[in-house]
Amino acid sequence: MKIKAALAKEKNHPLVIEEIEIDEPKEDEVLIRIVASGICHTDAESIKGNGAPFPAVLGHEGSGIIEKVGSSVTHLAIGDHVVLSYSYCNSCSQCLIGHQNLCMRTIELNFGGKLQDQTYRLHKDGQNYSTFFGQSSFATYAVANKHNVVKVDHEVDLRLLGPMGCGIQTGSGTVMNSLKPEPGSSIAIYGAGAVGLSAVMAAHLLGLKNIIVIDIHENRLELAKELGATHALNSKNLNVVEEVKNITEGGVHYAIETTGVPVVIKNGIDALRVAGKISIVGMGGDVTLNFTNDILMEGKTIVGTIQGDSTPQIHIPKIIQFYKEGKFPFDKLVKFYDFKDINQAFEDSKTGITIKPIVIIGELFT
Ligand SMILES: [Zn+2]
Ligand SMILES: [Zn+2]
Repeated sequence: MKIKAALAKEKNHPLVIEEIEIDEPKEDEVLIRIVASGICHTDAESIKGNGAPFPAVLGHEGSGIIEKVGSSVTHLAIGDHVVLSYSYCNSCSQCLIGHQNLCMRTIELNFGGKLQDQTYRLHKDGQNYSTFFGQSSFATYAVANKHNVVKVDHEVDLRLLGPMGCGIQTGSGTVMNSLKPEPGSSIAIYGAGAVGLSAVMAAHLLGLKNIIVIDIHENRLELAKELGATHALNSKNLNVVEEVKNITEGGVHYAIETTGVPVVIKNGIDALRVAGKISIVGMGGDVTLNFTNDILMEGKTIVGTIQGDSTPQIHIPKIIQFYKEGKFPFDKLVKFYDFKDINQAFEDSKTGITIKPIVIIGELFT
């Protein structure tokens, strides 16, 4: 069928909304009419050439309503409200032990452009287009494997929920599924973007004593406090490591690094207390460490965390329930844009005006 999609035709070019052909869902797939899609840093990286091969349809935080189901799909039905998340194979050893976020085929299935069976589902003028994260949600319709899809509560505004599939899952899951801090312990969160602020809300929910947020934008630090941060530090004005150690009498138990900036990563490691643990979430460059002094002698742990170590079908409904109960007010991070203004939404995300842009693509009701 013909759909409208924001096409990424070549590196560093604005997206263009045009008609493209999408294949019908196969037996283990569903057709979703997209209502909205969040914009995430990984989409921007892909436009720069660090993602799926061009040409491509990006978008990996889609939300929508199911219109068709394949013959082997039994747990989803026409009319279901769904959030789309990352792609995984559901048969490798990582998937089978419940770590789908570290599926052995993660890179291929989310960034390779092709589907699990090595075919393409998006075509235009005789050319194949890459699928992104198994969904390509910057489009009026998406086809996705049943494992990419999470059924969500009908009562919650579906237009808000797309970012649950990546950014919000990453921030909240890193706290709740990966670090699992004890109530009363301390955490430092580097970067107050959508991922960092989702981590703040999760840490607040779990009753941590010190939730220290570090950023360079005052407006984001203010919002962090509103969402539960006990301390908000502007790293332009002070020595972060000293300040974190002062607040926590020797360093934090846990930290999350979302910026990818080498000096911030190093600060994050240095401001841990003995036996502290840091999750690396942001994509970043080289950092020089002395492993004896910085890691070994203080028994510290550095771990990379993808998608908040979450199984989407378990984690996302849980966070939506917290939102309904007023315990996870992630709507404060969101700004809506029309689909036609998608390039502006990317620009506002880059400059920091908007924390989490969501483009509205379709009607909520039919
Ligand atoms: Zn797998
Ligand atoms: Zn993402």
